[in-house]
Amino acid sequence: MRFDILTIFPECYSYFEYSLINKAVLKGLVQIYVHDLRKYGLGKRKNIDDRPYGGGPGMVFMIEPIYRCLKDIGAYPKKNNNTRIFLMSAKGKLLSQKKLSSLTKLKRIVLIAPRYEGVDQRVADYLCDAEISIGKYVLSGGELPAMILVDGVVRLLPGVIGNEKSLHIESFHNGLHKEYPQYTRPKIFVTDEGNCLSVPDILLSGDHKEIERWRLSKISPKSNY
Ligand code: SAH
Repeated sequence: MRFDILTIFPECYSYFEYSLINKAVLKGLVQIYVHDLRKYGLGKRKNIDDRPYGGGPGMVFMIEPIYRCLKDIGAYPKKNNNTRIFLMSAKGKLLSQKKLSSLTKLKRIVLIAPRYEGVDQRVADYLCDAEISIGKYVLSGGELPAMILVDGVVRLLPGVIGNEKSLHIESFHNGLHKEYPQYTRPKIFVTDEGNCLSVPDILLSGDHKEIERWRLSKISPKSNY
């Protein structure tokens, strides 16, 4: 699967050089291309943004540099139905585990990761398939949202996670919050303040049926905010 990310901060994406994603790249399961939008900026100063028509605060990403970049990388106009172009946007469709899972069927995902006040609406309306939000809050740029989408999709691709069983027991698989509390050694952890934090006895019992029942009873998350 191929990802393309359009950004003015390509350096941010060194995250992809680590861990699972890097392994997936080295195995040839994914290719990630990060494109510097500045290269497509206008004029001597390579501008990518301008003031909003009608007034208002901040700067807005112009359509032309994005359009030029999409054309240059062969993403626009679209040649097939296996490609999607998404704009990262706080007001977009909320990303979910189900959506991530459906994206794994695609061959190519192109993500536009802007900054400042946002993007000329014509980018969303004419160049993209959808606007995608990673949550009902506002960040300062689309870099992290794009990274989150790539991370969430890549770990679901066949062959990326060594033990695929772990995908089936985790949170939100098939719409259910399934992650139960997990413990590992030591059996009892004693804090410097003298508190003994022990592992629930049931997990040490060896009774797998009872353990399963206990885990099922614990899957609703504790809400502390
Ligand atoms: N003025 C905009 C916020 C701009 S934040 C508004 O009110 O919605 C700058 C950029 O960060 C956005 O263009 C978007 O690409 C990205 N961004 C911020 N929050 C996001 C979120 N929750 N999901 C996806 N992208 C987000």
